[in-house]
Amino acid sequence: MITVTRPWLPSRDKLNKYIDRIYETKQLTNNGCLVRELEERLAKFLGVRHVILVANGTSALQVAYRALNIEGEVITSPFSFVATASSMVWQNITPRFCDIDTQTFTLNAQHVERKINKNTSAIVPVHVFGNPCDVSELAEVASRHNLKLVYDASHCFAVRYNNKSILSYGDVSTLSFHATKLFHTCEGGAIVTDNETLAKDIRNRINFGITGMSQVDTVGINAKMNELEAAMGHAVLDDIEVSISSRKEQVGMYRDAFYDLVRDGYMHLQHIRTGTEENFAYLPVVLNSEVVVEKLDAAFRQNGILARRYFHPSLDTLAFINPLNDQCAVSQEIAKRILCLPLYAGLSSSEQKSIISIIRSILLSDL
Ligand SMILES: *Cc1c(COP(=O)(O)O)cnc(C)c1O
Repeated sequence: MITVTRPWLPSRDKLNKYIDRIYETKQLTNNGCLVRELEERLAKFLGVRHVILVANGTSALQVAYRALNIEGEVITSPFSFVATASSMVWQNITPRFCDIDTQTFTLNAQHVERKINKNTSAIVPVHVFGNPCDVSELAEVASRHNLKLVYDASHCFAVRYNNKSILSYGDVSTLSFHATKLFHTCEGGAIVTDNETLAKDIRNRINFGITGMSQVDTVGINAKMNELEAAMGHAVLDDIEVSISSRKEQVGMYRDAFYDLVRDGYMHLQHIRTGTEENFAYLPVVLNSEVVVEKLDAAFRQNGILARRYFHPSLDTLAFINPLNDQCAVSQEIAKRILCLPLYAGLSSSEQKSIISIIRSILLSDL
């Protein structure tokens, strides 16, 4: 079976070396040395100031909303994983969906301003598939209206934009380290910020708001990462360059193979913003109709290949997270026609060739 992704599994030897440390320190959680060292390594590797490790990407978002006093309405993208918006509803925040750009699939910054009203407290754009949002325009809109800016950067591990980490834009960026992500800790995530006061507050909040032996200062939650997860993180980080460079090669092979299909209008690829150093985490293709997607998906399955319809359905079509019924036509249209192709270290070039040949036969026979 070829799946859309496969978690990176470091060698057992490498992982064991980190796990040995847990047996030496006898500390399993509560800001142990593996968590602290991983935070330092990540800050250095990513080129950012504060990295706070948490239990998962969803709690990263929720803690960020709390720490920034985000309430009322938040403008966000309907073209994302459901957690971007459901994390808001869970916190009694109302998502306001604003449509995406047809080429980059990120929030259309020009439309954002029209959705702002007196209840709006923040914008939560998504660098979807690792493609940077229009960060300069969004920063202007946010500052003009005094709104917080939190980037869901779950797909952006190691992405750089205009020669700095994409995570350094906005008040806060959040990462997911779920097993399916490029860099993972089995389950996990991080909150990234340049703001020292905010970082301190966030550290308190992920540990019940406890600030001292007999001192609880604020409403907190348990969103801590444990030492076993951090051990996995260290081992995966040791291999990250290998993992990214093998994906880069695979993405290159897909893009070359689709050159004429794109030129002749059978599919289109996400337009990556100029100035981006990519991480090659995903390879989405947009086909001409939902019928073609279904045909291709069926042909894949017959051949033991499992592509995924990321992100389908568009989040504005889910009534329980869109109580005000915002409609986003572009997102709905792209959601229907998009498919993410298999991409992971270990996917062989012959497997990739058979994926490509199935795509070509379905698309070119659809005349
Ligand atoms: C994976 C993901 C999340 C959720 O992260 P978890 O670690 O699974 O909680 C949130 N937003 C986006 C865009 C994601 O891809």
